[in-house]
Amino acid sequence: MRRVRNVKVLATLGPSSASEEMIRALFEAGADAFRLNMSHGSHKDVRAMYDRIRSVEQELGRPICILVDLQGPKLRVGEVAPDTVLEEGASFRLELKHSPGDASGAELPHKEIFEAIEPGTSLLLDDGKVHLEVVESGKDYADTRVIVGGPLSSNKGVNVPDVTLPVPALSPKDRRDLDFAMSLDVDWVALSFVQRPDDVAETKKIVAGRAAVMAKIEKPRALAYLDEIVDIADGLMVARGDLGVELPVEQVPGIQKAITRAARHAGKPVVVATQMLESMIDAPVPTRAEVSDVANAVFEGADAVMLSGESAIGDYPVEAVAMMDRVAQSVEADEQFRTAINAGRIEPETTSADAITLAARQVAETLNAAAIVCYTGSGSTGLRASRERPEVPILVLTPFVETARRLALAWGVHCVETEDATSFLDMVIRASRVAESEEFAKTGDRLVITAGVPFGTPGRTNILRIATVGTEARRERN
Ligand code: PEP
Repeated sequence: MRRVRNVKVLATLGPSSASEEMIRALFEAGADAFRLNMSHGSHKDVRAMYDRIRSVEQELGRPICILVDLQGPKLRVGEVAPDTVLEEGASFRLELKHSPGDASGAELPHKEIFEAIEPGTSLLLDDGKVHLEVVESGKDYADTRVIVGGPLSSNKGVNVPDVTLPVPALSPKDRRDLDFAMSLDVDWVALSFVQRPDDVAETKKIVAGRAAVMAKIEKPRALAYLDEIVDIADGLMVARGDLGVELPVEQVPGIQKAITRAARHAGKPVVVATQMLESMIDAPVPTRAEVSDVANAVFEGADAVMLSGESAIGDYPVEAVAMMDRVAQSVEADEQFRTAINAGRIEPETTSADAITLAARQVAETLNAAAIVCYTGSGSTGLRASRERPEVPILVLTPFVETARRLALAWGVHCVETEDATSFLDMVIRASRVAESEEFAKTGDRLVITAGVPFGTPGRTNILRIATVGTEARRERN
């Protein structure tokens, strides 16, 4: 089974989509990867979804990528009396202990916020619907003025965009969730509210190569360190939900482009997330603007587009995935797609892997080859091939199922688990066999193959071979 598009679809699972039948239906409709959100659901629920995905993977014989999204240090107000409404211009007091809250004040059980704020600091409640400005603060309180008022209910989130909060990247809950995710063998871990490169470094240290680590960019502070975060993370997510709360929402499209460009430059997968087809939570068709939004991410060359509530809690999860699939296919068939992708093309680095990969793309496009076939262990050559955004499909052959699953999120990559090549002849015969069985090529088609010699040595892509499907096998028989 092969997809006929390059961009990948990442679908969040939740109550609307947790059953094995739904996971199978979502995969068949076009989901390449599933996101398990640790902000919701118990370990038992997440384990059950994980097992069902692996069961569908086994049944369908295609590697499926699983990403666990850690909640991060989510800050919230305490209990608030029903029907509380904050009036614009009124005073509102936040205190370490103040329960229950009402229109005059509320509990904010996070002493690190009181340590970091000062007069003039903005506090955004409930996804930015309520805006407070600090007038005066101490170590356990803040007197604020209501700049934008509105209803406030218990446990609503608090964003503090102006300051770097002295909170650890991983909360105690995140640490427990991360241990749990490692026990499941997930493929990617997404880290929320990254503020500094060290946040990613700490998580990578714990994960120790057992999964790839994705930095969710949703804090203005992370943007100040974008290059360093891109350097250290294995992938990025443009987490537009919180980004649009922490920053003026009109800045999000430009930031999305900057993050996508930075990730493409580094050859690391980038996911564009949140509200892509939001209206499909309760409608079977999206708005024209949403279709345009998905299309725009595809034109920008994002590796993956993500569904959140649409597939997790919506009434039309399969329709939402199918819609993303159709939009992506339509954009990629548009003649302006190639122009846009080529315009964002990046110079190779001075490594033999990049030199071979660039040459493979040029040779494959010149010969109109059926596919570029990359032998890879860690997946790094597969990602470099994806970074080239070639016009021909990329078939990645790896002996490791973990690599195949991880790369299921990367642009244009179709991964197959197979043994490493043992000789030049084996390399060609194996590539041809897989290209035929996966419906990429037929007898007489040309393949451009990259690999590392001596065979089986990791990190050593150093050869490029043009092969014609069927020829070598025939020569071998004669
Ligand atoms: C986001 O804020 O856009 C996001 C993806 O994070 P979450 O859904 O976990 O809030």
